[in-house]
Amino acid sequence: MCGFVGIIGVERASAALSMALQALQHRGQDACGMATVEQGRFHVHKDLGLVINVFSEQTLASLRGTAGLGHTRYPTVGTGVREDAQPFYTRRPGVVMAHNGNVTNVDELERLLLTRGIHVQSRCDVEPILLVFAEALAERRASGHTAEDVVYAVREVYRLVRGAYSCVAICEVDGKETLVSFRDPHGIRPGSYGRSESGGWIAASESVVMDALGFSVIGDLPAGAAVLMRPNEEAIILPIEADTPRPCVFERIYFARPDSLMADGRVASTRWALGKRLGEEWMAKGLEADVVVPVPDTSRTAAQAMAEVLGLPYREGFIKNRYSGRTFIMPDAAARQAAHRLKLNPIPEIFEGKRVILVDDSIVRGTTVRRLADLAHMTRPAAVHMAVYSPPVKHPCYYGIDMPSKKELVAAKLPEEAWAEAFGVDSVTFLSLDGLRQTMGGSICMACFDGDYVVPVSSGEVAAIVMDRRGA
Ligand code: SF4
Repeated sequence: MCGFVGIIGVERASAALSMALQALQHRGQDACGMATVEQGRFHVHKDLGLVINVFSEQTLASLRGTAGLGHTRYPTVGTGVREDAQPFYTRRPGVVMAHNGNVTNVDELERLLLTRGIHVQSRCDVEPILLVFAEALAERRASGHTAEDVVYAVREVYRLVRGAYSCVAICEVDGKETLVSFRDPHGIRPGSYGRSESGGWIAASESVVMDALGFSVIGDLPAGAAVLMRPNEEAIILPIEADTPRPCVFERIYFARPDSLMADGRVASTRWALGKRLGEEWMAKGLEADVVVPVPDTSRTAAQAMAEVLGLPYREGFIKNRYSGRTFIMPDAAARQAAHRLKLNPIPEIFEGKRVILVDDSIVRGTTVRRLADLAHMTRPAAVHMAVYSPPVKHPCYYGIDMPSKKELVAAKLPEEAWAEAFGVDSVTFLSLDGLRQTMGGSICMACFDGDYVVPVSSGEVAAIVMDRRGA
């Protein structure tokens, strides 16, 4: 998971991008970067760390230009080195690019590029996409590229690059500096675009960026199409190879900010609907409870909806420390417990003597839920019930969300009857697969829940992804 933004037609692109990247910080904290374009010249700065630490006033001043790209990185592959931070650029022809997603056939692309004498320099998978795109442009002509050339280049990307990707690029098209965006044919990873009253354009992973910068949101970037954006002109949408849209449902369950607009509505509305459905399914089991407590921060909206359906009080029972940093490997159980309490501390009065429903967004490895149950039990509740507003994660994600291999997924490892004991709770209720499908409506990617992969991934590709993650 990463965040990208591209902007064109603003007075000072670096200032706008620095705000945009702060609005996207939740999508990646490992590294960030920015590239601005000044009359065909690229100015690039990228480093490991948070946006506020990587970009000083002085750095922003050196990133001149009225167009640019920004990126926040959360590595699903690679070792978190500066060289893997985005954006990337090529000099021939001049293209700068950033993306969110995961390419499943990186090795194959590297071999293909090598046969053309092109060496991939990083382990970041936007680099092969950029090189395929740039090579296709160069194949058409050395300079003076047209919209038709962009269509050809994106078609080449679709033909050669497998996986999920939403990309933004800046290059000269029809003799004008142009912000170009394209998403894979299924639109698995998110992306939206908007415009400013003064004629500027923006494309980003999430619409909250547009809110922060005062741009109007137009909607999702179309899947399987390129969009060309230039200051004071209408956007040009070039359909190329649209397939059935299958946007990632996990974005709306967990990753995206609740105030973002995605697909057919606000992320918060989706979480509310999922919480409501979970409440109905929980009630159907005939269980009883006294209070609903969210696991902060993501599950608040769903927990409120669940409480409303069940007619129970909603209480904030865990306080999250916003300022705690990474906790490193702790030598013993007591030290680990202290580290968890530094991050999350229960309010005993909310739990003591009560039958509590803890609401969380998902369970992946099962370690977090076990720690939460331990924290809750320290406050002597009458019962702890776990309710999760997504189905059990039983399959890894190969499309850009960092999930462990199948053998580390607790719901794939243990039979359903063993979950409550393994998590240290009295009961566990996951949202059903049907509950998720019916609540979301339409067509979505939910492969991590049902194993129905939108883009087939070969066993060789799976092995390469698993090895890359081990290196991460
Ligand atoms: S497999 Fe899961 S996390 Fe990955 S894109 Fe699909 S829904 Fe999202």
